[in-house]
Amino acid sequence: MKKIIIAIDGYSACGKSTTAREVAKELNYRYIDSGAMYRTVTLYFLDHHVSLTNPKEIEKALSEIHITFVINSKGASETFLNGINIESAIRKMRISEHVSLVSAMREVRLAMVKQQRKLGKERGIVMDGRDIGTVVFPEADLKIFLTADMLVRAFRRQKELLERNDLVDIDEIVDNLTKRDQIDSSRKESPLVKADAAISIDTTHITIDEQVDEVIRLSLTKMIPALKR
Ligand code: C5P
Repeated sequence: MKKIIIAIDGYSACGKSTTAREVAKELNYRYIDSGAMYRTVTLYFLDHHVSLTNPKEIEKALSEIHITFVINSKGASETFLNGINIESAIRKMRISEHVSLVSAMREVRLAMVKQQRKLGKERGIVMDGRDIGTVVFPEADLKIFLTADMLVRAFRRQKELLERNDLVDIDEIVDNLTKRDQIDSSRKESPLVKADAAISIDTTHITIDEQVDEVIRLSLTKMIPALKR
């Protein structure tokens, strides 16, 4: 069967990562969470007090950042920065509050997109993010654009944070998601927009299983061209 590239884009907390991870598991594909890469850069910048207005400092910092993904014993992907597991640290609100500003920077995007394209070279990949179908893999075989109502997104994100023992007020989450949507959609470099060929799925009233099944069904039509939608 033809190995394909699946790009899943959309706003924050619409279920992109969960869907991408489950689809990758079912298809035995590699899953790459591109948001985790931008979160990792943000963690490094904050911890090393990198000035966002100093291009030299930014270039130096980017050259010192080595991101890898390791599958843990439960089959979940965990993010490592220079060999250290930073999966929990990058999910904190401290990172969510700064990540959109860091990822709006041209130098940061160029460095991440280069790594993301390398990861996709062998195909058989599901990558989620904001610019995967438009910039990273404009040639992706299947492009999905996920949306959901704000309150549903916020409660889903709150539940995820709680599972990590992090209790965050719902208003704070709504505020963060709204700000990130705004910055991600209006930035100059690779703004979040739906790719022309992307298929929209509104996840407000459907379950994760339904989301996953729909993406798998669409994937099969790309892997086996004889299948019709
Ligand atoms: O996917 P997640 O919400 O973890 O992404 C965190 C942030 O990383 C986004 O709000 C966005 O600013 C940035 N991002 C991006 N391009 C991507 C993936 C994420 O700019 N492909």
